[in-house]
Amino acid sequence: MAKDFLKDAKDFYDVIVIGSGLAGLTSANILARNGHSVLLLEHHYQLGGMATWFKRQNGHIFDISLHGFPIGMIKSCRKYWTTEIADSIVQLKGIRFENPQFSLRTSFNREDFTRLLIEKFNISQETVTKFFDAARSMNFFDDQSKTTRQLFEEFFPGRDDVVRLLMEPITYANGSTLDDPAITYGIVFSNFMSKGVFTFEGGTDHLVKLMKAEMEKNGVDIRIRSLVEKIEISPDRKVTGVVVNGKRIGCRTVISNANLKTTIFQLAGEQHFDRKFIEDSQAVRLNNSSCQVYMALKPGLEFDDLGDLLFHSEHRGFDAEALCSRHISSRTFSFYYPRTRPGSDRYMIVSSTNAHYKDWGPLSEPEYEASKNDLIESTLQCLEQRYIPDIRAKLDHVEASTPRTFEHYTRHQQGASFGTKFEGLGVSRALPEQVNGLFHAGSVGIIMSGWLGAVNYGVIVANDADKLLTPPSMVTPPPALSPA
Ligand SMILES: Cc1cc2nc3c(=O)[nH]c(=O)nc-3n(C[C@H](O)[C@H](O)[C@H](O)COP(=O)(O)OP(=O)(O)OC[C@H]3O[C@@H](n4cnc5c(N)ncnc54)[C@H](O)[C@@H]3O)c2cc1C
Repeated sequence: MAKDFLKDAKDFYDVIVIGSGLAGLTSANILARNGHSVLLLEHHYQLGGMATWFKRQNGHIFDISLHGFPIGMIKSCRKYWTTEIADSIVQLKGIRFENPQFSLRTSFNREDFTRLLIEKFNISQETVTKFFDAARSMNFFDDQSKTTRQLFEEFFPGRDDVVRLLMEPITYANGSTLDDPAITYGIVFSNFMSKGVFTFEGGTDHLVKLMKAEMEKNGVDIRIRSLVEKIEISPDRKVTGVVVNGKRIGCRTVISNANLKTTIFQLAGEQHFDRKFIEDSQAVRLNNSSCQVYMALKPGLEFDDLGDLLFHSEHRGFDAEALCSRHISSRTFSFYYPRTRPGSDRYMIVSSTNAHYKDWGPLSEPEYEASKNDLIESTLQCLEQRYIPDIRAKLDHVEASTPRTFEHYTRHQQGASFGTKFEGLGVSRALPEQVNGLFHAGSVGIIMSGWLGAVNYGVIVANDADKLLTPPSMVTPPPALSPA
């Protein structure tokens, strides 16, 4: 008989969280800590969503999205998770760029970028200072019509090389382009520039293990292999429960960590919302997806220090659309040394490229396999020609993932890696105004994606839900919208 993953679940909870991405996990933990009964439902057999890992023969462990995040993650983890988690966050100092326009190594913070822009790119100190100050002062309530392209034109007209330095890493980090609102760039870029790029020592599996332990301590009822099919809403637009693995469970509030569009159109159903809200939701664009190639060296073998993150490209200039092409040379290499998982002896490489679902979704199985092999082959060629000449001889395991893989495991429409474009944030925030008790917490609006954005959005939404669940006399004021 099939195992019942909902065995002994209660009939009713204060909060049901759909999905265990970083936003869902954070919301669940905060609300349980505040004394509410919380059920966390995850369709996959593993918690973490995109913050995930997989194991292969010979003890190899590959991290999927552990390439880097801003320092703000330390503060958020200390406040909303545990000291142990916060204390495991360490800086990555070796960030490299190799492309036809420049070759450089940087610690990726304001100080070092100021030096590079002045000494290597011949930009005046005054312009650099003004640019950093302008980016730093941007916030959610600023003019949203100005694009990142216009921002760069204002400070660095005609300087495609400078735009590449400033923009390429952010495009990899959240899929944003020059046509997205400048505030999304300003907020995310400034977060990285404040102190550089950070990682979680011990690997994603260790992080999720610690988060799971903390949630259990706080009383979250965690269920894996539990697919939510429906959010139940009463005719007077109140959340009343969910249907999961064919079973109904009642609740006062639902926080959906599933994709925003899936939440509205598939799990809830458009009949429960105002016409205008549905039109706005239909207009929300999904963000792009990703491809990755995972490579593990044979146990005991190593490569020289190649830095931690390498933005490699043979493309002549910065081109966000070309970065998503199946035939692009541009890729980010994450080099993992034994220090990633102290005690391990493994050297691993993960190559990431941005990608469009439309290039992968319609392929037949033979075409799909052939395209994955092409991706692996071109990645190995790049490595052997430029960075690790004997990579093929040293390799123990290699495989690739595509937008189809991300769609399969996280159920994000079109395998969207970073949720939605900017307009998704307004729709996500307005959801509880449409249906009492229905919230969305997950990658949206560019600024609320990535590890830090997702955790912080989980905090904001948990506070909203807490306010609804807590009698007015006990409510403390929620924090202001404070993005990634
Ligand atoms: C290849 C790649 C590399 C990345 N690299 C970085 C990086 O270096 N740094 C960084 O900061 N960010 C990175 N990101 C982005 C970052 O991982 C995500 O933005 C973040 O983890 C998303 O968290 P989330 O809370 O939005 O939820 P998600 O991770 O999207 O998780 C949603 C969860 O909901 C579950 N779910 C969906 N529908 C249902 C349902 N109906 N029932 C039950 N469960 C459901 C899914 O299974 C999933 O577990 C990367 C992403 C990708 C794809």
